[in-house]
Amino acid sequence: MSFDSLGLSAEILRALSEKGYTEPTPVQQQAIPYVLQGRDIMASAQTGTGKTAAFTLPILQLLGQNPAPSVKGRRPVRALILTPTRELAAQIGENVTEYSTHISLRSLVVFGGVSINPQMLKLRGGVDVLIATPGRLLDLAQQRAVDLSAVEILVLDEADRMLDMGFIHDIRRVMKLLPAKRQSLMFSATFSDEIKALANGLLDNPASVEVARRNTASEQITQFAHLVDKKRKRELLSYMIGHHDWQQVLVFTRTKHGANHLAELLNKDGITSAAIHGNKSQGARTRALADFKQGKIRVLVATDIAARGLDIDLLPHVVNYELPQVAEDYVHRIGRTGRAAATGEALSLVCVDELGLLRDIERLLKKPIPRIALPGYEPDPTIKAEPIQQGRGSRSGGPSRGGAPRGAAPRGGAGYSRDANSGGRDGRAPERRRDNDGSSRPARSGAPRRAAGSSSSSYAGNRSGNK
Ligand code: AMP
Repeated sequence: MSFDSLGLSAEILRALSEKGYTEPTPVQQQAIPYVLQGRDIMASAQTGTGKTAAFTLPILQLLGQNPAPSVKGRRPVRALILTPTRELAAQIGENVTEYSTHISLRSLVVFGGVSINPQMLKLRGGVDVLIATPGRLLDLAQQRAVDLSAVEILVLDEADRMLDMGFIHDIRRVMKLLPAKRQSLMFSATFSDEIKALANGLLDNPASVEVARRNTASEQITQFAHLVDKKRKRELLSYMIGHHDWQQVLVFTRTKHGANHLAELLNKDGITSAAIHGNKSQGARTRALADFKQGKIRVLVATDIAARGLDIDLLPHVVNYELPQVAEDYVHRIGRTGRAAATGEALSLVCVDELGLLRDIERLLKKPIPRIALPGYEPDPTIKAEPIQQGRGSRSGGPSRGGAPRGAAPRGGAGYSRDANSGGRDGRAPERRRDNDGSSRPARSGAPRRAAGSSSSSYAGNRSGNK
């Protein structure tokens, strides 16, 4: 199937061919015609399926077909795309800019953690498509810097993650600022009762769009594991990168400290590397990602949370330098490669402490991960498993998603923090927490269930649109 048959305009088709896309992905095939018809949709699609273009392309076309209305002499926001994290917002913004090269529309990305004033200024100049994280959008609305009363199309992207991150009240507050008559598109990877309830209140007779879950069933990703002693992982990694001449490798560590340390060591080995995690400034994160995308650095070492939502075209190699504590995170990690039409490889370096985690992952995948063994790097059988250290953060009490690692000894006294990124991760409701979009807001009732305080976004940019 080609893009021509979906009813897309010549301007959009031109932008797509410039981008090098030849065929729509399944979610694009299903969603684009509905959106162009003006229908609400409820789409089940994860990052990596091409979902961003599935809503962006028809929205740009619909807006481009009709001239911008004028409300009180101003150009109002016509499409609002709500997304949970800064990096997703920035990436959607980039896509909007690319796809609208031949359409005269203005777009703007707003999120917290950066100065609000330039955002206010740009909004005053008139913006057609606004991509926002909920916290900053509400801040802007409170300061009367944004008028949402003429929004024609609303997108709720990654709705399940928004709920997980405790954004439900913010979403409801945003809804009150929108006109009742509008087109609404909701995207979510999962369908809990909570998501269904949200959809019921938000969508009008929605068309349902479903694509196969993108997980490790994807044959596009070749997975393998190498059992190796902890102390020799870095040597083995350097060897693999050099020997196979890997040019763009995303490497996962469990902690920020581990990410820094590994990046330093790889640099010493002559392999250009940078670490990306929650303690890095926004500027440093943006720079590291840009350098990585442009091939100026070969290795990006990231923690789980920092890597969420990273969109890197054709990423060929993902390495689990340390296995994640929670098996589902393995799926997220390796989903960074083999995206859309590309193929990729995921290598896990597994020491004796992590054998239980490896078994958990294989149980989740319902298949074994093939082992490779480079001569000279076989593990020393006399080394016994030790507790897995989790960085300096502490997690007292709160429920664990994955439970104790089996196979490894019990957790050490250092405590447990998945990313050790920032506050609000200790199972207690913090007094104030930093929202994922960086704005400091009062804690809501109850601690957000999963990703509170995951302020380790990695990509910034408050950019205005093309024209
Ligand atoms: P998304 O699920 O929106 O995060 O998209 C995943 C990746 O697939 C992004 O890097 C897109 O640029 C890319 N992509 C989206 N649609 C297509 C397509 N039709 N053909 C090839 N690549 C695509």
